[in-house]
Amino acid sequence: MRRIYLDHNATTPVRPEVLEAMLPFFRERFGNASSIHAFGQAARAPVEEARAQAARLLGARPGEVFFTSGGTESDNLAIKGVAYANRGRGSHIITSQIEHHAVLNSCQFLEQEGFTVTYLPVDSDGLVDPDDVARTITDRTILVSIMHANNEIGTIQPVEEIGRIARERGVFFHTDAVQSAGKLPIEVDAMYIDLLSISGHKLYGPKGVGAVYIRKGTQIVQTAHGGHHEGDVRAGTENTPGIVGLGKAAELAFIEREAEAQHLTQLRDLLQRRLLDEIDDIRVNGHPTRRLPGTLNVSFTAAEGESLILSLDLKGIAVSSGSACTSGSLEPSHVLLALGLDPQLAQTSVRFSFGRDNTREDVEDVMEHLPEIVARLRAMSALTVKQEKIRGSGFGVRG
Ligand SMILES: *Cc1c(COP(=O)(O)O)cnc(C)c1O
Repeated sequence: MRRIYLDHNATTPVRPEVLEAMLPFFRERFGNASSIHAFGQAARAPVEEARAQAARLLGARPGEVFFTSGGTESDNLAIKGVAYANRGRGSHIITSQIEHHAVLNSCQFLEQEGFTVTYLPVDSDGLVDPDDVARTITDRTILVSIMHANNEIGTIQPVEEIGRIARERGVFFHTDAVQSAGKLPIEVDAMYIDLLSISGHKLYGPKGVGAVYIRKGTQIVQTAHGGHHEGDVRAGTENTPGIVGLGKAAELAFIEREAEAQHLTQLRDLLQRRLLDEIDDIRVNGHPTRRLPGTLNVSFTAAEGESLILSLDLKGIAVSSGSACTSGSLEPSHVLLALGLDPQLAQTSVRFSFGRDNTREDVEDVMEHLPEIVARLRAMSALTVKQEKIRGSGFGVRG
């Protein structure tokens, strides 16, 4: 069976060029980048090159980029690091209701530690209103954390406007750019970003490596204590192969970003158009235009989402119900609920996320199977509703 992968927001394959770049660092160039002998130096220079490559993708200076174990650690470090370091100035944090759990759960943890967190609502397209940010900032606010682009629905936030407001009020601004890095232009200076998170495996690099941008002058407390690695921001021997892989992936993403975005947009729009033409009663979630190139989230009224995913999987097509971290929990997505979807409709939602190797043929294949699957699941759920009505009325069913 031909397998089609449409879940690139969950993770991406490592590009061959990236794997090639990493291999020597598992073999002969295994030295500890902190060692002063030749083995160590053979690992140090490539780590610094990777830092420059990651910095270039973000419009940052290399000295402000620090490697971590991934997007989750970068979010934790940025949020907790700023919170603890700035406790003397205030204890109020502003974020949104549709952040990734790495941000939401970091904020919830800080609430237990005595911080106060405002979770801003979003409109029905998933947008945060910058005026809400301005209104919510008080002289106790120390941090605003609003993601660049959402992993479930793809909505792109007005980070530049939000960043400007935070800067004017002397509040640090963090953005989770794990989904946008390599897909959207990022300029930390022009966008007033003080802290930013990226992850290797979301941009065709390896899993278990990420980076956090921290603007010079931003007070931060390290969350992992140990040796003097990564400018004393993040202790632990550098993951040299991973870092080199992330650097290579960032370099390629920087060079190819525009062509890649165009390719992803075409495929997304093709699938969206065909779904709307060929299946009744569906709803596209997320902003119609301010959306990640390859992300399409659709609710298929009365067709259960998990069943849709499993049925597509049987045909070799991999999609997801939103966030990979929460699937299987059977809870409706917090992002879709924040858009105002009722929980039942939220449960019928599927996320298609395209990647660089997808083709129009993949869209054709989805459309060959999906209308049938939706029709079958809808017929099943209609039957269930009918049976429940019969049971509820006390007629027709014994026992
Ligand atoms: C995947 C993801 C993360 C977590 O990154 P990991 O490297 O998997 O820890 C954080 N934020 C967003 C928006 C993501 O999509």
